Amino acid sequence: MDYKNYITVVENYPKEGIRFKDITTLMQDGEVYKKAINDIADFAKDKDVDIIVGPEARGFIVGCPVAYSLGLGFVPVRKEGKLPREVVKVDYGLEYGKDVLTIHKDAIKPGQKVLITDDLLATGGTINATIELVEKLGGEVVGLAFMIELTYLDGREKLNDHEIFTLMQY
Ligand code: IMP
Repeated sequence: MDYKNYITVVENYPKEGIRFKDITTLMQDGEVYKKAINDIADFAKDKDVDIIVGPEARGFIVGCPVAYSLGLGFVPVRKEGKLPREVVKVDYGLEYGKDVLTIHKDAIKPGQKVLITDDLLATGGTINATIELVEKLGGEVVGLAFMIELTYLDGREKLNDHEIFTLMQY
């Protein structure tokens, strides 16, 4: 399956010079969305994963169906002020901006094996911050899975020795 046929590239969004990869056209096709999720779930199957973690908002689009298909729980990582209970937080840099990410303090138990999901790997800032949050709680990151990797931004180099799975590369 050439997943790229289902991605829409939007020029100059959210600002001048960015070629935004829009996954909503992939999600609109039930068969393709299901295959994308199944491919990621297959990657996770031999990793003895205990729980899935994904950053808002598109990390949920990938992580929740993968969690459901594996019969695992899902933990949301969110922007500051969005989670209702006690959180740990981390500052991070984006391809286009800066922000803070948080996770509920009791979301992961020490030693749990975690698969982190997001729609897209760009500079790696978001996923690095998510890894940091999981590790602060004592979780062990056993894999990173994305629909899309922007290889020209070298995000992979920031992610040390973590095993990375992607459905397509630009
Ligand atoms: P990074 O932190 O630089 O790796 O950027 C990845 C984050 O930014 C992900 O959470 C993506 O959802 C979002 N992002 C960056 N570029 C794009 C894009 O072209 N399409 C969709 N999301 C993007």
